[in-house]
Amino acid sequence: MKLLPRLLGVTLPLLAAGCAGRQTQPAYDLVITHANVVDVETGRVRPDQTVAVSEGQIRQVANTSRQAPAAKRVMDGTGKYLIPGLWDMHVHFRGGDSLAAANRNLLPLYLAHGITTVRDAGGDLTPSIFAWREQIRAGRLAGPTIYTSGPKIDGPKAFWAGSLEVENQAQIDQALDSLQRLKVDYVKIYESTISREAFLNTIAAAEKRGMTTTGHMPYTATLREASERGLDASEHLYYVFKACSSKEDSITAAVQRSLSTPKPLGLFAVLPAVYRTYDAATAARLYRTLAQHKTAVVPTLYIQKLLAELPETDHSRDTLLAYIDPKIQATYARRLAGAQAQSAATRAFNKQLGAKFMTLVPALQQAGVTLLAGSDSGASNSYVYPGTSLLGELELLVQAGLTPAQALQAATINGARFLKADQHAGTIRAGKDADLVLLNQNPLVDIRNLRQINAVVTRGRVYTAAELRQMLQAVKHR
Ligand SMILES: [Zn+2]
Repeated sequence: MKLLPRLLGVTLPLLAAGCAGRQTQPAYDLVITHANVVDVETGRVRPDQTVAVSEGQIRQVANTSRQAPAAKRVMDGTGKYLIPGLWDMHVHFRGGDSLAAANRNLLPLYLAHGITTVRDAGGDLTPSIFAWREQIRAGRLAGPTIYTSGPKIDGPKAFWAGSLEVENQAQIDQALDSLQRLKVDYVKIYESTISREAFLNTIAAAEKRGMTTTGHMPYTATLREASERGLDASEHLYYVFKACSSKEDSITAAVQRSLSTPKPLGLFAVLPAVYRTYDAATAARLYRTLAQHKTAVVPTLYIQKLLAELPETDHSRDTLLAYIDPKIQATYARRLAGAQAQSAATRAFNKQLGAKFMTLVPALQQAGVTLLAGSDSGASNSYVYPGTSLLGELELLVQAGLTPAQALQAATINGARFLKADQHAGTIRAGKDADLVLLNQNPLVDIRNLRQINAVVTRGRVYTAAELRQMLQAVKHR
């Protein structure tokens, strides 16, 4: 009688064992009893809850009754805390087909750290990502649910391999056509060579088609105009930060003028000027615009800090390196060389910038801007290990001034809403995907308790801490 929960839907009372008549099969695949359920929307804990799961979905959440409902598996959640599976809203799978298997081996690292959904922010492995996604859905591959932008949109001779290069409207339409054919989840725009016009026109054209857009942006454009065109999220804090300058217009004009000279100004060339002209009133106005136009922000504090500290940090003994394929480790060389080449002044400035970025976070939150937690983990982003980097990001968001509940929102319900998946994901409620993390300690008291994982559930499938360790062993290379 596997049909029972499906027939009766979410109103099915939690059947106690023995009360299910002649039913021989348990009603549920999984029941977690006596758990403290963390309601990420209210930031409150509902104690002593029973969560019943079948066919990959949460069927009911209710106070624990004396007898556990019949289930194939019952887990005792006494003293433990149940949160929705975490969403890492900025990761990359990339490096070309020769790195496809190495990228696939990153998937268990996400699960092992409680991340059951990731948003791929563009790369050159789109066919592989679609294949993994199907295998994960079918239960043949262990990994998080993947949302992807597919290839990035950029300008001619773009920096990242596999980008769709656009200069004029016809190319923009063509690029968006191809992304719609691919059925990507959103559009990611990158700024290595894209012009201001092509950037803004891509946002406007995508908006007309009802596609979600996120991006880096050329410093020749302003975040205000991008937000007004319909940009749905700004990746990293550089572009938000530039828009907090009281001299944004003249800095933007200087960047524009420099494009026709032998030495065009890049982002990092003008950041010191932006820093010097940061203005709280300008920032407050910008945040209101972002909130009004529903442009979310993905702060990625963790990678900023890690890269700022890279010149003087020895990562060669990081325990997690053992789970990163040597081919992916080889892609770390570019960032490392860049860090080694930095002047003392640049190093000092990058640290100052990180400290400044931290102050933007609570102000954005307070202004009602949606924050999305993302790590930027993936090939080329040295030592930003999948999994632990998102937990590090959440720790920094709290250090910056968010409450643990707000940080959790940024890594659960906000992500689900952003990807229009909140009808079926992002919180612990009947009818939602059974993506859950059972923690030994309360993450609302200390966000670092997200590291105290007892079990991870993805689409109803349970991985105990021991099974997660085994999963990691399988991708260990030394
Ligand atoms: Zn990225």
